[in-house]
Amino acid sequence: MKKLNKIKKPKKKVISPKIKVNKLNHNPLFIYFLNWEGDRYTIEKIIYRVLDQLDEKSKKSVQSKIEDILSDSYLNNLSNFQKIFKINIDKAISIKEVSAEFVSWMNNMYKYISEKTVFENKCEERYIEIVNPEGKWLESLFCYNFIMVNNYFGIDIVKKCPICKKYFAHKGKYSKYCSEGCKEIGMRRKK
Ligand SMILES: [Zn+2]
Repeated sequence: MKKLNKIKKPKKKVISPKIKVNKLNHNPLFIYFLNWEGDRYTIEKIIYRVLDQLDEKSKKSVQSKIEDILSDSYLNNLSNFQKIFKINIDKAISIKEVSAEFVSWMNNMYKYISEKTVFENKCEERYIEIVNPEGKWLESLFCYNFIMVNNYFGIDIVKKCPICKKYFAHKGKYSKYCSEGCKEIGMRRKK
């Protein structure tokens, strides 16, 4: 009997996106954002991760805006955005599909950023340019990052730990818990 093709090998990439979604031992950017608990310290750390993925000009304009982002009003808005983002992600995880509504909601955010492709030695790299530094570019970046990951790997790699409720990314089909610690608790509860 012929063996079934279990997993399709990904086609060789010509494009190497600047957002490194292929390294899943590190969670993608949007996962950090989903797990954000509304505090200043963590969002600042996330913003520094964002900086790595921007072109030079945008990097400079972001650096001058960090103080604004860390203001109460901005963080409040960001928390509200995160709530909607989470609801949509939870739904996508449970139906194993990204709904058309979610896609169009994310598309709405795209006016604040644009993708720039740079060719170097026949290699393609993608950078993000911030079109409107006064707008919701940070939110857009989380959407962009999610879409990249989803396009590349599918929604299956986005998981939510049933014990601590944290989000994580893992290629394993049956991986369920975010850590060994949560796995132990989960196993004990099953008994
Ligand atoms: Zn967990």
